[in-house]
Amino acid sequence: MNQIINQFIEPAQQGSYFTIPFNIPQGVEVLHVRYAYNRFNEQDTRIENRIIGSKEEVNIIDLGLLDPQGNQVGTSGSDKESFFVSEPLATPGYKPSPLIPGEWQILVGAYKVAPEGVTVTYEITFTLKKPNLLKGDLHTHTIASDGVHTAEELAWKAKRAGLDFVAVTDHNQMVSADALPRLEGVTLIAGVEWTHYKGHANFLGVDKPFDGCFATNTAEETQAIFQTARERGALISINHPFEECCQFQFDMNTLPFDCLEVWNGPMRESNLKAIGLWQSMLAAGKKMPICAGSDYHKDTPFIFLGGPTTCVYALSNGTSDILQALRQGHAYLTFAPDAPSLKMSADNNTIMGDSIDWSKDSEMKIEVDKLLAGDVIRLITAQESQPVWKAEKNGRFEMTIPVEQPGFIRLEILRAFLPGLPLLPALISNPIYFDAK
Ligand SMILES: [Zn+2]
Ligand SMILES: [Zn+2]
Repeated sequence: MNQIINQFIEPAQQGSYFTIPFNIPQGVEVLHVRYAYNRFNEQDTRIENRIIGSKEEVNIIDLGLLDPQGNQVGTSGSDKESFFVSEPLATPGYKPSPLIPGEWQILVGAYKVAPEGVTVTYEITFTLKKPNLLKGDLHTHTIASDGVHTAEELAWKAKRAGLDFVAVTDHNQMVSADALPRLEGVTLIAGVEWTHYKGHANFLGVDKPFDGCFATNTAEETQAIFQTARERGALISINHPFEECCQFQFDMNTLPFDCLEVWNGPMRESNLKAIGLWQSMLAAGKKMPICAGSDYHKDTPFIFLGGPTTCVYALSNGTSDILQALRQGHAYLTFAPDAPSLKMSADNNTIMGDSIDWSKDSEMKIEVDKLLAGDVIRLITAQESQPVWKAEKNGRFEMTIPVEQPGFIRLEILRAFLPGLPLLPALISNPIYFDAK
């Protein structure tokens, strides 16, 4: 999508500032602005010191951008001929910002205008959002708490590991998005792991999910912290609910949260218990999305960034789209970044996490890539857990299954990670919910 604006500037406007409004529609991932005008006197052929000198500047027009609230997103004087803005990244001098639909303004500074005036041509281009599969780690610690790396080091490690996003979740240490490094291809999500003697929870995507201090002594104080985080738009996950050192002892029914962290670090007893809890919530009719995080502090033989990985179908790599996809359950979890991948759909508009009305003709389509020989695919409902396929060789699997009754259907891929070891989850999906009409 592309829009051209020709703006004539009168000589009388020299020395003044004004704005040109333009509209950003719904669903824009990247805004690009380019401008051009006759800056130099082309007739000027001065030769200085036998070198062709710079031509005389007859027009100098400055550039900037304001958001719908009139806040300055960036200015670049007359230094840059173009800039771009997106949520995770922008041209230096411009603040990475979500492209909220509405009326934005180009800031024009008429620093110098020729006696005959000047026409400035602005080209505004939108790159539209589209669903992408992004991989990330939603639970990490840095030197701000008990990790050994800086956020910048985590970003580079994530890039090398093939991750698209990392949430920085230090114990009771908030971090603002502006303070996190910007690295092309890796979105750093501001977060905090609210860490209490009676349980841990992540608050993601807002700079300051609660005021005052993390410490609470009553259920009411704890509820107030969760409620404030929810009101401020944080994504809230209940972390490692059965981890021995830090079980979640608060009553989950009294606290608002968006996701259950059923897979924390290496697969083990406490995670299997969390998956069991989740299964019982689903069976009770609660549509609860899941998430995963490595709880990375430093590399050990069993702990690495992206172990496990949360894979989301998000509309862009902006924090708000990633968190929105998690809330919708448009996600599955894998043991590592380089693991089987999954597409699961009931029709073109219904993917994992979504609900659709059940009918006797309902079907679900499964597509899995990067299976290893011996992998087992299981489909799990409230009533049963059925192996539907055992891979005889490495590769791809596709199947459409009839959905015989309403309820949720989720998928797990199980793998023997070493010969002789029992099968453990290599992938866990959110369900598709087939609702009884
Ligand atoms: Zn924790
Ligand atoms: Zn942690």
